Amino acid sequence: MVGEPTGYRRLIEEVAALYDWIETQMRQNPDRAGRCRACGACCDFPAYDHRLFVTLPELIYLAGKLEQRELQPMTAGRCPYQQERQCTVHAHRFAGCRIFCCTGDPGFQSELSEATLRRLKIVGEAHRLPYRYQDLPAALAGFSCDTCQSAAAPCPADRAD
Ligand code: SF4
Ligand code: SF4
Repeated sequence: MVGEPTGYRRLIEEVAALYDWIETQMRQNPDRAGRCRACGACCDFPAYDHRLFVTLPELIYLAGKLEQRELQPMTAGRCPYQQERQCTVHAHRFAGCRIFCCTGDPGFQSELSEATLRRLKIVGEAHRLPYRYQDLPAALAGFSCDTCQSAAAPCPADRAD
């Protein structure tokens, strides 16, 4: 059996490290980060008047963590990974899901989002990924095997484990 491609494994590690870094920033700034009650309201984007932007390394990371290794399209305004108001991919959720909190300080969230995006750009460039920062519906609709074909990090569907 062939192991995971090195580039792919590195990308997964780099995105995981970035998510850990975000969680650390949140923990170190509890007053500014806010307190999420995990009510799930903000995952219904039109109803909450909220948008979530994601990058390609995050999409590859999530796809690689899912059993079926494919991402679901968004067929309604609500995130397809929310079921019965619970996030079904909580451990692998996007940076924006980790940073946004309705009780948090918008200035803090904006600074952390910008710093996160800079880091995600570096990860993407290191893996020769095209730069994409898209609204979740467009990002999910546009994500396919072709997306990663030219990248140093192969499509998660090629992963062997
Ligand atoms: S950030 Fe606010 S709206 Fe979103 S899940 Fe947490 S408590 Fe609910
Ligand atoms: S990934 Fe999870 S936290 Fe993020 S929008 Fe979807 S259901 Fe909500």
